Amino acid sequence: MRILGVGLGTALALLLSVLPASGEPGSTPVFVSILPLKTFVEKVGGSRVEVSVMVPPGASPHTYEPKPSQMVALSRAGLYFAIGVPFEDVWLKRFASSNPRMKIVHTEDGVERIPMEAHHDHDEEDGQEAAGKKNREPADRHGVMDPHVWLSPPNVKIIAANISSALVEMDPAHRNLYEVNCRKFIQEVDRLHAELKNLFAGKEGLKFMVFHPSWGYFAKAYGLKQVPVELEGKEPKPAQLMALIGQAKKEGIKVVFVQPQFSTRSAETIAKAIGGRVVFADPLSPEWAGSLKEQAAKFAAALR
Ligand code: ZN
Repeated sequence: MRILGVGLGTALALLLSVLPASGEPGSTPVFVSILPLKTFVEKVGGSRVEVSVMVPPGASPHTYEPKPSQMVALSRAGLYFAIGVPFEDVWLKRFASSNPRMKIVHTEDGVERIPMEAHHDHDEEDGQEAAGKKNREPADRHGVMDPHVWLSPPNVKIIAANISSALVEMDPAHRNLYEVNCRKFIQEVDRLHAELKNLFAGKEGLKFMVFHPSWGYFAKAYGLKQVPVELEGKEPKPAQLMALIGQAKKEGIKVVFVQPQFSTRSAETIAKAIGGRVVFADPLSPEWAGSLKEQAAKFAAALR
């Protein structure tokens, strides 16, 4: 009896040591680029996935550099869910070579991309900025596509379907689970979209001002227009700031939206000049649906 007991205990300990630290037995460690994508993958994958996020809270997916400890963790992952944010341009290739068994899934495939909103200020090209060669944008930057696809519910339905297909392909035994979860999630997204359409009914064409133009797809989904403060990834220069203040005054804009990952300096300058205020709107919240509703209410209140 005693020998049997020890044997079972040892077998159990061995079994436990090969299981992932969390998640159910047999769940797959996967990586995602940003927090909202973690939410989407968990909605579809349930307890079959154990999700790690590359870009931590407060960091920018435009410029993020993965930590060595994340590269180590990546070697255990079965799937990497990308979404087309800029740091992936540099890093996906490195992720792939550090773990050739890991499949990289482009969850944004099939989403109709729109160009990044940006002012095309041509003062610089007139030589106004003598020392400023380093600040000049290469011509092709003007055609850059907006990476913030996850802020539009219709896009998220496409993203969810891509996640579901990738999970089914990796783990066909649980096809039914992934497909049912995906359908349920898409229904939730549909309800949210209907609610937001209702919220913005009659406000079509109205403009909101935002430091970093993350809300292009959101604006498109609800017939709104975002006016960016940041100019092609940089703080506006004094003359550009004056022009933005003039525009805000002319169009009755009273709120300048900012997000925690970027500086609020120029947004505050504009808000002060127009007698308005700065309001936070975080596009990277892991509470995707709740946060989108909250942001939408702030936008709706600011539009008039
Ligand atoms: Zn961004």
